[in-house]
Amino acid sequence: MSKKRPLFPAWVYVLWALPVSLCAVFLLPLALRWPLPKHLRARWAISERTLEVTSPALEWFLRGPWFRTLTGGAGFAAATIGHVIVARNEHCMRGCRVHERVHVGQCERWGILFPLAYVAAGLWAALRHRRWSGYYWDNVFEVEARHAESLCEPNAESRKDASNHQEANTSM
Ligand SMILES: [Zn+2]
Repeated sequence: MSKKRPLFPAWVYVLWALPVSLCAVFLLPLALRWPLPKHLRARWAISERTLEVTSPALEWFLRGPWFRTLTGGAGFAAATIGHVIVARNEHCMRGCRVHERVHVGQCERWGILFPLAYVAAGLWAALRHRRWSGYYWDNVFEVEARHAESLCEPNAESRKDASNHQEANTSM
């Protein structure tokens, strides 16, 4: 995939998406680096102006009824909130990173309007397809993210995850 040259300096994108990114603040205490066994420990990393947080403690959020209702599935392995990507563990982060990065880019384009645009696109998709699951599966923002994933194949590990992945960008 070729990367487009950004129009503005990085801080402009961070600032533009900041109101959405701040919605992730309430989740971050769940991902403190408590003295836990290694496989349960949270990990924080900053890459390409995005904060990536993995923690098993985020599972309740990612598998909550709010996401299960959206997909008709078991919830999500990862989710994006502005410039914050949260995932249950490193394996999920690896499997979902390409998809989530697309949502980061979408939020950089739409800024504070992104949550509204996402919900509107989801409702429109659900209406058009006359099924509630269309909100997620036929949402143009999700279609774009899944398309980017497909361009990254072959990545066996990611695809294995992706079948279980059911990720969403949500700012609710
Ligand atoms: Zn998504």
